[in-house]
Amino acid sequence: MAGAADQGDRVVSTATERVKREVLGIPEPRKYRGAAPRALTGRAPEPGTQQRVYRYRFYPTETQTRQLIQTFGACRWVYNEGLALRANAWRDHHVSVGFAETSRALTGWRRAAGTSWLRDVSSTVLQQSLRHLDSAFTRFFRGTAKYPKPKRKSRSRDAATYVRTGFRYREDPERPGTGSIALAKQSDPLDVRWSRPIPAGLTPVKLTVTRDRAGRFFLHVLVEERIAPLPAALVPGADAPKAAGLDLGLAALVTLDDGSTVQHPRLLRKYEKRLARLQRELHRKQKGSCNRRKVRGKIAGLYALISDVRGDGLDQLTTRLVRENQVLVVEDLAVAHLMRSASGVGRRRKARLSESIADAAWGELLRMLRYKCAWYGRTLVIVDRFFPSTRRCSACHAKGERLPLSTRSWTCAECAVTHDRDVNAAVNLRDEGLRLYREVAMALPPGRLPPAVIRASKPAKGAAAV
Ligand SMILES: [Zn+2]
Repeated sequence: MAGAADQGDRVVSTATERVKREVLGIPEPRKYRGAAPRALTGRAPEPGTQQRVYRYRFYPTETQTRQLIQTFGACRWVYNEGLALRANAWRDHHVSVGFAETSRALTGWRRAAGTSWLRDVSSTVLQQSLRHLDSAFTRFFRGTAKYPKPKRKSRSRDAATYVRTGFRYREDPERPGTGSIALAKQSDPLDVRWSRPIPAGLTPVKLTVTRDRAGRFFLHVLVEERIAPLPAALVPGADAPKAAGLDLGLAALVTLDDGSTVQHPRLLRKYEKRLARLQRELHRKQKGSCNRRKVRGKIAGLYALISDVRGDGLDQLTTRLVRENQVLVVEDLAVAHLMRSASGVGRRRKARLSESIADAAWGELLRMLRYKCAWYGRTLVIVDRFFPSTRRCSACHAKGERLPLSTRSWTCAECAVTHDRDVNAAVNLRDEGLRLYREVAMALPPGRLPPAVIRASKPAKGAAAV
């Protein structure tokens, strides 16, 4: 039976193989030659380890800079070419082209006379670019992202990824956890500022080199390390998990259910003002002029600074929250968007700007909470967007009227308790999150820990009656 199915597949595939070979110019796969068996150098992560990225600044030499800029350009070119190949194959021939075919096409491009400059760049790095394209398509088919767009020099971040065979790492015996890193096609090791060591004795699994729009180079070092989960955080004197509800907002970055707030760093406000000023300046400059490019550069630098300051603040905040609580509850990010567009905030450029900064901060906050919860054995609960966190009275659970954004506090018609708008929402989120967490925890076989992320996509039955 298996044989018959095999043959059926082959009949279909010869036609598509011919289109791929003759029309799309994708070379045939290499023939199987029965090579001698080799021990697999596994890419499977060791059991019990977590992936973690350490980021370092580095200062390339002039030669390295030139080589890296060439690499970034080649990665972008290969990504776009692979995208065009996949799109055209489907549009014109109804042939679906996957990673393996684009990878074979890459071999052809490297051999072709017109694109022989691709040979100056490590082939594994270019292959990674096609891998990224492939995951962009996977995300699109899964419905979690839009159709992949071509990368543009002016818009896309410069990045190149080196897998294990694309770099050499030698740990420094004097300073364990640091060492020398040399990239493929480069003779000298990179001048890396090891601001903190990676775990001693580990070899990086993957490296990503980036250049931000301010022209700074960074090395993102991926390691697989054993991270010990923290002891469970329980409510003092009770056998219940400690939980925190987080209400995300524009006025305060985060309002917690205990009434405390976390503001955007003050420094950001200063930068925000400067950014708004520069942006006004940019709009006055003539398109394509030298002055416009200068202002552009300044804006890029300021964005880089803002992202650094924000990252530091959020890192500390999320570490503290994850240490102190077993369960962290947030609302679906879409809620925040809905609320703001309904109230008409964001007409003016400055309001839009502070919104985009807040957006980036919330995205980063959730991303950090996600991976830190996974590292330390905590749970992040993302509550459904239809949960009425703002309108529900946290004392008696009566549902009140819809509140305009300007209303900062309100009194419940049922139980006459006066609520701060954001604190009330945070308390509601905490309670709903705990309920969902218990529901999931109860259904687990004994001894199993609840997952790192719980997402409630549908309103649970009976939620309204509680
Ligand atoms: Zn009430």
